[in-house]
This record gives sequence, C-alpha cells and structure tokens, in this order.
Amino acid sequence: MGKNLEKVFEDVKFTPGAAEGYINKAMQPGIAELLKTDIPKEPLPDDQMVEVALKRLDQVRKERKSVQLYLDICVRCGACFKQCHYYLGTGDPKNSPVGRQELLRKVYRGHFTIGGKLFGSLAGAQKLTPEIIKNEWLKYFYQCTECRRCSVFCPYGIDTAEITMAGREVLNSVGLATKYITKVISLVYKHGNNIGIPEKAFKANCEFLEEDIEEMIGVKVKLPVNREKAEILYLPPSADLFVNTDTMVGVAKVFHAIGADWTMSSYASEAANFGLFFSYDDTKAINLRVVKVAKEVGAKLVIFGECGHAWRAARQYMEDMNGPLPFKFMNIVEYTADLINKGKLNFDKSRNDDVIVTIHDPCMWARSGDIIDESRAVINSVCNKVVEMDANTIKEKTFCCGGGGGLLTEEIMELRMKGGLPRAMAVKDVVESDKVNYMTTTCAIDKAQLPLVMQYYELPVEVGGIHDLVSKAIILEGQKEPEEMEEEMEAPAGPSVCGLCDTEFSSMDECCEHAEKEHKISKDQCDMACEPKE
Ligand code: SF4
Ligand code: SF4
Repeated sequence: MGKNLEKVFEDVKFTPGAAEGYINKAMQPGIAELLKTDIPKEPLPDDQMVEVALKRLDQVRKERKSVQLYLDICVRCGACFKQCHYYLGTGDPKNSPVGRQELLRKVYRGHFTIGGKLFGSLAGAQKLTPEIIKNEWLKYFYQCTECRRCSVFCPYGIDTAEITMAGREVLNSVGLATKYITKVISLVYKHGNNIGIPEKAFKANCEFLEEDIEEMIGVKVKLPVNREKAEILYLPPSADLFVNTDTMVGVAKVFHAIGADWTMSSYASEAANFGLFFSYDDTKAINLRVVKVAKEVGAKLVIFGECGHAWRAARQYMEDMNGPLPFKFMNIVEYTADLINKGKLNFDKSRNDDVIVTIHDPCMWARSGDIIDESRAVINSVCNKVVEMDANTIKEKTFCCGGGGGLLTEEIMELRMKGGLPRAMAVKDVVESDKVNYMTTTCAIDKAQLPLVMQYYELPVEVGGIHDLVSKAIILEGQKEPEEMEEEMEAPAGPSVCGLCDTEFSSMDECCEHAEKEHKISKDQCDMACEPKE
C-alpha cells in the first residue's frame, strides 16, 4: 500500500461523535407535494414519530427481503469496520459500516425479534425514541454515500447502502429529509434536470457548444435536442451542458465520427436519478421519464452519459421497476469502448501527452454497474501515460469521492473533505511516485467533489471525464490541424471584461478565473462571459 494511504488506515482514531450533522434539514415549502413519496410536509411531533417510524420499518423489511436478511446475519466480525471512507476520514465508529447498520439493527431487534423483546440490551436490542431518530438516524444515514465499498469486504456480502436506503425511507415517513435531495428531485419533475435548466437554456447551450466546436476544429458537430425520431436517446448529466462541457463535446464527437442517429431530450435532460438517495418510489418515477421519451422517439438504444448513480439506477432498477423495456440500454464508456474495439474511431494519442493520467472508478460503475475494463480500454486508446493508484483503492475497491449519496451540499463541506481523505491520499501516492497530474472519472458528482478535494489536500491534479480525453485525441474527417487550433486558442493577452458583471481584469486568464469562481462557468467556456476590453 502507498505510504500516504497506509497512514490514513493507521491514523484513524476513536472519536465518538466526530462527524457533524446537517445544518439545515428541512424541506423547502412546496416540495413535498412534488415528490412521489408520501412524506409529511413538516417533521412529525415526538409523540407520533416513533409509532410511524416503526410501522414504516416493519413495511420496508417485509417489502425488501435483502434488508431483512442483512438485519439478521451480521456476525460483528469487524471486517468492514475500516473500509468506509467516512469512518477513515472522521474516526467516528458510528460512521463505520457495522456501526451504521447497528443503529437500525438494534431497534429492529428491540421491536421485531423475540430475543430482543425478552432480553433487551443483553441481546443487542434497543427501544426506539424520537432522539434516536432525530440525533442518530438522521445524522448517520445521511453520512453514508451508499457507495457499497463495505460490502466488498463483508464475508456475507452485507450491503450497508441497502440499510441506509431503508433508514432514509423510514426517516421520510416521519417528515425528515434533507433540503438538498428533495430540492434536486423537485427540479427534475419541474424542468427535467437536477439543476433546473429550462428547455430554452438547454437548447441554447447545445447550439452554443455546436458553434464552439466548429470554431475550434472546423467541423459541424451536432448536439441534437428533441428530434421526433432517433435510433439513440442520449442522457447526459445536466452538468455536462454547463460545467463539464468537454465531456459533452467528446461524446458528440464520437457520435459524429460514426454518423450516429441520436438525440437528447429536454424533458429528460438529466441522466442522474436522485431518487436512489431518497426512495424507491421516486427512483421509479425518475426512471419513468426516460422510458417515456425513449418510447416516443422510437429509440432502440438508450445511452447514459458519464454519471455514476444514473447508471446504477438504470442498470439495477429500470427493467424491474419500469419494464418490460422496448429498447436496450448501455453507458457511453461501454459504447465508445465497443466502437474502439471494432476499429471505428481514429485517435492521435500524443494530443494527450501533456497529462499523466490516473483512473478513479466511480463507486456506482465499479461496484454496481460492472464497468471497470471498458474505462481502461478507452483511456489506454487515447492516452500514452496512464498510472494506476494503489490496488486497494481502484476497481471494485474504489473509494468514494465523499460527495455521493446526496451529500454534495455546501452545508457539510468540511465533512465532505473528510470523506475525500482516502481517495486524496491514494492520489498523493501517485503524484509523488509518477508525477500524475490528471485524474479521470465518469461521474458528475466526482467532477464537482474531487477538484475541491484535490485543492483541500493541496494536490496539483486536474479532474476530468474520460470523454474529455477522447475529445482531445479523436480525429474527425476535415478537422483543422493541431497547430492551427493551438494558434487560434491562444487567449488575447490584453485587458478583458466580464460581460456578466462588468468587472474589468488585466488579462483574459484573470477574467476566466473570475468567471469560474463567481459565475460557475468552466475555464474552457469562459468566452461565454469574458471578452477583450475595447
Ligand atoms: S456504503 Fe459506503 S459510505 Fe455507506 S457505510 Fe458502506 S463504505 Fe461507508
Ligand atoms: S463484515 Fe459483514 S458480518 Fe462482519 S461486521 Fe461487517 S457487516 Fe457484519
């Protein structure tokens, strides 16, 4: 194991209560009505809370046999104990997988097993109180990113993510949910995507990217939206249209290269499915949008973009919840890997020689989505310099970025950075040994969280998608020569002004930095905001 990572495992200290909870737990007004889950608008009063929670716990364990099984079979061997990034980052034993499970298990024993009812704490049982719900369940079921790393190390395959999902469903029944997750789900129902981009803006941005690509490489690459009929329906994470635009451009270039008949949809302009972090009912309803559009456009193939949990929600649940499906579905890295395998794409790998790449496997692809080799096949086809991190932190043993599971909210930034510690230390090892300066990931949450983690732990590593690298290396018919593109891309040296707030800067670079920080516009797209000063 690398020395920095080894230190994390050694250093973890027993510090009960080390992890902070959420500052703002309340749903915003008007949100509960939009959700498909039956949830009280306000938290229930204490005198009703326990009864309702127990009723829901009883339902959930009966509805989902896996939850019942996991509550029964743990032997407390401790093999999972140190495998959770949130435990390693906070040192809080209730953040260990078995510690988290026990919060629910003790109550289950206390109310639903004979041994627990007869022998109480001697049988590891506990009676439920409003304090347990509000102070422990709410805190620790929202400090699990549902990453499933612990299940890889459990000899019985106990999946704490399932326990967490059950715990959150019980919390929903008493009106306790986070503002962030419920808001995101409501935006999907209102606008079709997690960040609330209206149809007009979605289309306008696609047109903008088309113009940008043509200006850059001299080829008309289309980003079609709302075509009436198409063979392929593509679902990007909405962040790819605004922040991670290089990923979107890379995907569009792949489709262009093979002349694909594809479209995106403004009704389902989001691959992500936050229902997974909230309830089965909302997971199902959010998936249903995709099925509806795919049927309407007559798609034979639905392709999910670079989004971790979108792929899990589709792969694990779509057929069961929303089937039978009249189309096949896959994710974009599988699709590109297949085209490469068939010799249908041309690359110049040397165009990525400025980066030494390491690969972060998103939890939801490596452990819940069976996508490991395909990522490496694509990356090795478009890059010359690739370095793997410690074997204990990649592929099915990958560490979560610390922002998954609906935790990507500013309210808990410090906690998120603690959750990102094991990943950061594995990166630090390859920075020191191989001068790695770029980390790929195929998850939009990672792309928001990991740059902050790199910054927090002072690691000079850029984070980007696999298709960002594909975009640089792919050769399209009729495109400009690299030297010509480089010349044109050079930023004007003189003073510039931000068109969004009229602030003046002494250089375009400064303006771009400002646009990224203040207006959340990626540096590659900063000409949306910055222009040379007259
Ligand atoms: S699923 Fe992930 S976050 Fe949750 S307890 Fe297991 S390792 Fe920790
Ligand atoms: S590894 Fe499995 S059986 Fe052992 S303590 Fe963890 S959850 Fe229980």
